[in-house]
Amino acid sequence: MHVVAIITAGGQGRRLGAGRPKQLLELGGCTILQRSVDAFDRCDRVHELVVVLPPDLAAAGEVTLRPARKPLSIVAGGTRRQDSVANGFDHVADRADLVVVHDAARPFASEALIARTIDAAAESGAALAVLPVRDTVKQAAADGAFVGATLPRETIFLAQTPQAFRTGVLRDAVALGRRGAEATDEAALAEQAGHRVRLVEGEARNLKITTEDDLVLARVLSGEGAGASRAGTGYDLHRLVEGRPLVLAGVRIPFDRGPLGHSDGDVICHAVADALLGAAAAGDIGQHFPDTDPQWKDAPGLYLLARATAVVREAGFTVENVDVVVILERPKIRPHVEAIRAALAGVVGIDVGRISVKGKTNEGVDAVGRGEAIAAHAVALLR
Ligand code: MG
Repeated sequence: MHVVAIITAGGQGRRLGAGRPKQLLELGGCTILQRSVDAFDRCDRVHELVVVLPPDLAAAGEVTLRPARKPLSIVAGGTRRQDSVANGFDHVADRADLVVVHDAARPFASEALIARTIDAAAESGAALAVLPVRDTVKQAAADGAFVGATLPRETIFLAQTPQAFRTGVLRDAVALGRRGAEATDEAALAEQAGHRVRLVEGEARNLKITTEDDLVLARVLSGEGAGASRAGTGYDLHRLVEGRPLVLAGVRIPFDRGPLGHSDGDVICHAVADALLGAAAAGDIGQHFPDTDPQWKDAPGLYLLARATAVVREAGFTVENVDVVVILERPKIRPHVEAIRAALAGVVGIDVGRISVKGKTNEGVDAVGRGEAIAAHAVALLR
């Protein structure tokens, strides 16, 4: 059985790509179109590839695809999606036993999904990948402003591609389209031509890249930027003396002693700030906030941390998470941990679930263990 894949990239979709058709945008160093073509090139059920491009791109040779393992031809598309598929179909109709149609804008279809769609169509004549609806489905009333009905979602599925057809079925669908029928996918034309189309379990990650939000998600799925994580570490220690307030991440902790220091001696903020700056290779707090400069005298730790956060953000990083260990013989910081986490989350600007704070004692050993000092270690991860 000779199986041909028609990958449709006929649309211009320029709203996403600053003048570039969306199928030519890059995801993790590879165009969206190339990723889609690769999925079918890898799938052993498929024997031949047809890529349908907008006529200007097809003619200009502007689109470069890596050499495929399988025969690959480029065909000029038409005005509508169905015209593009029809052009691709004309190119292969004489030799294909089964045709699988796929939107180039869905670059994450798995080989398993392609294979099961082809297998279902080989058995039933036509098949398409669908996703069940998880949200409750409302149909609007005629006025469009109120609910008209709540539909039973068990019977509703969202159509994806791939969609596969025995050649005779797709021939009927294409002919119906040429006689004036309109549809947004080939399965709908096959249905209108009287064929039964089998439902095949689709994949949530097989998303269609249409909006900016889709593109953001696609960049995550492609692993783009995953290699750009940066870890940083920070450490701080202050002597504890009588008559100073004990402040950690801006949270006042009742105690008879507090850190001696040029600033408020907020060891958590100082350690976290150094971890952030360290991850960005942007120096340390001593360099950004020198203690010889009177403007930083008594500067609250939270203020220094906010400034350090701004430095790493301006360098293009986002903060993934922060983990802190505070080493202190007395008092217990456990009762204050939630307030400290919330304060750090607010200043660093990330969810509190990404901030961890743990307290330790030093088991009576050394200056920290004798209660003469407080120390903190912090680790931060940036992307
Ligand atoms: Mg300090």
